[in-house]
Amino acid sequence: MCAEKTILVTGGAGFLGSYLCERLLEAGNDVLCLDNFHTGSRNNIRHLMDDYRFELIRHDVTVPICAEIDEIYNLACPASPVHYQIDPVQTVRTNVHGAINMLDLAMRANAKIFQASTSEVYGDPAVHPQVEGYCGNVNPIGPRACYDEGKRCAETLFFDYHRQYGVDIRMARIFNTYGPRMRPDDGRVVSNFIMQALRGEPITLYGDGMQTRSFCYVDDLIRGIMALMDAPATMPMPCNLGNPVEFTMRQLAETILDLTGSRSELTVRPLPQDDPTQRQPNISRAREHLGWAPTIELREGLQRTIAYFERELSSPARVQQP
Ligand code: NAD
Ligand code: UDP
Repeated sequence: MCAEKTILVTGGAGFLGSYLCERLLEAGNDVLCLDNFHTGSRNNIRHLMDDYRFELIRHDVTVPICAEIDEIYNLACPASPVHYQIDPVQTVRTNVHGAINMLDLAMRANAKIFQASTSEVYGDPAVHPQVEGYCGNVNPIGPRACYDEGKRCAETLFFDYHRQYGVDIRMARIFNTYGPRMRPDDGRVVSNFIMQALRGEPITLYGDGMQTRSFCYVDDLIRGIMALMDAPATMPMPCNLGNPVEFTMRQLAETILDLTGSRSELTVRPLPQDDPTQRQPNISRAREHLGWAPTIELREGLQRTIAYFERELSSPARVQQP
């Protein structure tokens, strides 16, 4: 069968990127997966390695690269606050130099390019739920800024390359997404709570646990990303993608305790600096222009994710490795 397109996925060995590679292959495309394994893993893409249309390129997006491609999905960047704060300068470089390199490549190859932006561009939002027109409330010198401001600068670059050079861009502001293939040591709340519950360890609730997030299951999100890439260039950009059902972290902990049957206690830890107090996407734009909305409810998605972590824990050979 003839491939439909040749598509570059940066960050393709990560949590979201590995699902995207999988779905793009299923749709009949050739996929180049570019990753430096900073937070990604070969385990995430091992099942794709035998597919002749799949190619792994071990490379850092901060270094320019040449490739003959039709489309680029730019996902390279650690997404967990724990991981992106380990080397904040590299996080900025990945976001900014990575965006420039991928946009230059898109321009040379005449390729359409998608940017994985984030709800973090809204910072600690004063507007709730968050609409795309809201410009955000970000502390530019805080510990989260390497990620938030890095992503904001990447957004600027995408729009400037579009206006100045006519590059065909798509951009999603992705809200908290979870599912199987998150790293057990990822550090984000869903994987932390599930691992703690399964191990019978205390559940680490930061602050009073009344801060909110809205969690999207990975399958829903990947469907949204691919629909956005295929949307006409006239579609207003950027586009929020996330599940608009909002929960407190305390509710999330209680739901995970209920689903796992764990007797773990809740233990309170200090709230990290600049931790947003509330977050919920307004997804009217995605509904109207893509006909997209999430379908998987939190309890259902958590059950699937818990089953994954149970399998990981019971099979040491599958422990995450680079
Ligand atoms: P992840 O950490 O699992 O994946 C990121 C991938 O990028 C990893 O495979 C990592 O090794 C790779 N990477 C990092 N720096 C790189 C570099 N310099 N060169 C090449 N590869 C590099 O995170 P994820 O949850 O899959 O997130 C993927 C993208 O989606 C990120 O850009 C993130 O900002 C964005 N996003 C994710 C969420 C979410 O909830 N998962 C929310 C908002 C935005
Ligand atoms: N959080 C928590 N316990 C944890 C990890 C995170 O209470 O073990 C909280 C964190 O303070 C934040 C929310 O859960 O309010 C979501 O955190 P996460 O790191 O998953 O994502 P982000 O803050 O980037 O939305």
